[in-house]
Amino acid sequence: MRDLFREGLKLGESLAKLPWEAARRLGGDSETVRHAANLGERLGTLPFRAASALLGPGAAGAQPGAEARAPGGTGTGAGPATPPKRVVVLGAGYAGLSSFLELQEHLPRGYEVVLVNGDKYHWFTTELHTYVAGEAPDAVRVPLSRVVARPGRLVVDRVSHINAEAKRVELASGDVLAYDYLVFALGSDPEYFGLPGVAEHSLVAGNWQAATHLRNRISAMLEHHGVDDPLHVVVAGGGLTGVEVAGELADEYGARVRLTLVEAGPDIMAGFAPELVRTAREVLEGKSIAIRAGNPIARVDEKLITYKDGDKMAFDVLVWAGGVRGSGTLAESGLALTPRGRAKVDSCLRAVGHHEVYVVGDSASFLDPGTGRELPPTAQAAVQMGRAAGLNLIHRLKGRAEVPFVPNIKGAFASLGRKQGVGQMGDEQFTGVPALLIKNLIESHHAWETGGGVMPLVGRLLRGPQRYLRGTAQQRPAFRPAARRTAPAARAEVRHQ
Ligand SMILES: Cc1cc2nc3c(=O)[nH]c(=O)nc-3n(C[C@H](O)[C@H](O)[C@H](O)COP(=O)(O)OP(=O)(O)OC[C@H]3O[C@@H](n4cnc5c(N)ncnc54)[C@H](O)[C@@H]3O)c2cc1C
Repeated sequence: MRDLFREGLKLGESLAKLPWEAARRLGGDSETVRHAANLGERLGTLPFRAASALLGPGAAGAQPGAEARAPGGTGTGAGPATPPKRVVVLGAGYAGLSSFLELQEHLPRGYEVVLVNGDKYHWFTTELHTYVAGEAPDAVRVPLSRVVARPGRLVVDRVSHINAEAKRVELASGDVLAYDYLVFALGSDPEYFGLPGVAEHSLVAGNWQAATHLRNRISAMLEHHGVDDPLHVVVAGGGLTGVEVAGELADEYGARVRLTLVEAGPDIMAGFAPELVRTAREVLEGKSIAIRAGNPIARVDEKLITYKDGDKMAFDVLVWAGGVRGSGTLAESGLALTPRGRAKVDSCLRAVGHHEVYVVGDSASFLDPGTGRELPPTAQAAVQMGRAAGLNLIHRLKGRAEVPFVPNIKGAFASLGRKQGVGQMGDEQFTGVPALLIKNLIESHHAWETGGGVMPLVGRLLRGPQRYLRGTAQQRPAFRPAARRTAPAARAEVRHQ
């Protein structure tokens, strides 16, 4: 008889998931998802009830609280006698949302999961460069209400302080959230390497608030600049972020901006194959972007960069894409941090010394067992970490063993404006439109996986071709190093000696 109950329970669990999953996948709003969860909850208990009616309630005695429960529902049986234990996920970026979705779907009875984010949207941070260059905000974000459903709960507030000893999170509103388990995924802050003046005189594109500020600053300043007097935008940092920002600004504003891409290392796009770096250089220089590598910035004063060799360069806007560190909210948390402010985590992504805290994404210092080095901060790594931490926590809550995280970094792709890109996946290299297409597919897949539903997926798939067809603003003649100091482009540049 117990077998019959067990089978009923299994069938009930499968039935319970169906409406919820369908509503989530089809992009229903939070209300629809909630209704679907409730319907699933009722459906899910049917086989169990049928077994009870046939065999008598006593037959289920060996299965305390054994009623099926929809993943988005609260269960219709007697709820837990004690208040639910709380899992708090901080941050709804790539890492946090990936964790949250696993938890929301598989959380065992007796737990609730709360997602805290400073904003009511999940932003596609990897596409913020397009937003900086004028893209509509809705093209690069999805409302969290689309993906949060019971037992999940969303709190829109800023995290101001974390106390790992007391297991409390303080919010900007003054509210305090106690937790039993915490997933920390608040992304990163810019790393200025202590260079004088950089923090004060530069802007960044690493999060939506900063990107909004940068976007507004550029468009406000462009009101006073034109093709005869282009705005000099210096992008400092030749990694993915810097290259994508520079390429996008060039395509959007053409001759109205003069772009310089500065890289402290010997060349841009460290880690990419030399042939791809060469292609990227050709494409960017073809957009009149001056690339200046191998001479690090030593200090920044108002509108003036001083390089390590003493050279000076005037600028109108400085975009800092020189590196990131762990979120500043970790600083006083009591967690063990690296010099770059990232929380040290073990092989299962738990904070060293605080195993009830999981740290994922840009704020985690995870030693990749494959390379022995810290896993670089990327969206791909963030999603994988987030999912792994969510699943590990579920294993733990269900009394199962946790599984060490093994990253599976498949490749890297960068857009070089709207019409070209470069990328590598395993031994394969991609350039031009195929690279852009693959990048677009990766982003679309992410939209689907985060549960935004069909509309964001379709929007994402169409976005690449739309961007391509939108074309590019008219460029100045391709950049020639020798011509760099001719008027008017040389207007802002000053030599030290
Ligand atoms: C322009 C640009 C292009 C990029 N291109 C690529 C690329 O092509 N490929 C790639 O792999 N990576 C790329 N990256 C890097 C990638 O975006 C990051 O590695 C990734 O976003 C890290 O994910 P995360 O979840 O750790 O943090 P995020 O995605 O930054 O998420 C952090 C979340 O926490 C929230 N938050 C932060 N602080 C608080 C607070 N105090 N209170 C409440 N909420 C808070 C934020 O609003 C956000 O929702 C790019 C980055 C930029 C800026």
